[in-house]
Amino acid sequence: MTPQTQNLGAFARVESKVRSYIHAFPTCFTKARGSRLWDEAGNEYVDFFSGAGVLNYGHSHPVLKQALLDYIQKDGIAHSLDMATAAKRTFLERFEALILKPRGLDYVVQFPGPTGTNAVEAALKLARKFTGRESIISFTNAFHGMTLGALSVTGNAFKRAGAGVPLSHANVMPYCSYIPNDLDSLEFMRQMLSDTSSGVDLPAAIIVETVQAEGGINVASYPWLKRLAAVAKEFRVLLIVDDIQVGNGRTGPFFSFEPAGIEPDIVCLSKSLSGSGQPF
Ligand code: PLP
Repeated sequence: MTPQTQNLGAFARVESKVRSYIHAFPTCFTKARGSRLWDEAGNEYVDFFSGAGVLNYGHSHPVLKQALLDYIQKDGIAHSLDMATAAKRTFLERFEALILKPRGLDYVVQFPGPTGTNAVEAALKLARKFTGRESIISFTNAFHGMTLGALSVTGNAFKRAGAGVPLSHANVMPYCSYIPNDLDSLEFMRQMLSDTSSGVDLPAAIIVETVQAEGGINVASYPWLKRLAAVAKEFRVLLIVDDIQVGNGRTGPFFSFEPAGIEPDIVCLSKSLSGSGQPF
């Protein structure tokens, strides 16, 4: 497939060179349903990518689509800053009844801007405000978003370089299986946190993905996550699970950390939260 045969001229001409996935998928998509995508030439694709976790429930799910159409049809409110709306109340009530209560979780919900990186920035700010500490521990190969705070806890050098300014107030530790003995890597972290001469400041929070998606598919073991939660608790450091890509049922349960039997202090959700891929 070439850009000419797929009519991608407008993208090359009018859109900024800061384009990414179009290079990996050089075609123009026109339709999506369930796990399938179609392009202008009528080719059908199985979409394993799902908007990098935006469409965990599939494209154009008939129930979700109908609910959205009904809402628009009756002039439902599309934007209300953080004023109360009936739709928002319904969401909070259902989230409490279907997600939080059955799991015995007493979380409250903060609505930052609609992107994943907004949720990460809010989590970092909240952890700093709550603890009065500045730094954050993150992990090798982590990806948390493209804004400055999120980039500071992201591993990839290319993405970090995009910041154009020094990224600070973060320390990186080895993720599960990055070095051969997983639990030893956490013992190393424990030692760094307990030794006031280690050079690592006591952080406000540790931020982790239970399954690293953008950084390669790296899966943290349940014992590693359990031990990580115990280390965080020991040092009264908040544990943030970034479930933006692998939450919302992507790994099975609603929250990816459930089978590990841990209860993070802060959970970041975004992408699939609206159900249908709308900003939320
Ligand atoms: N956190 C994780 C784990 C992600 O995978 C992503 C995006 O892929 C983000 C944060 C950032 O989300 P967004 O691109 O919506 O800002």
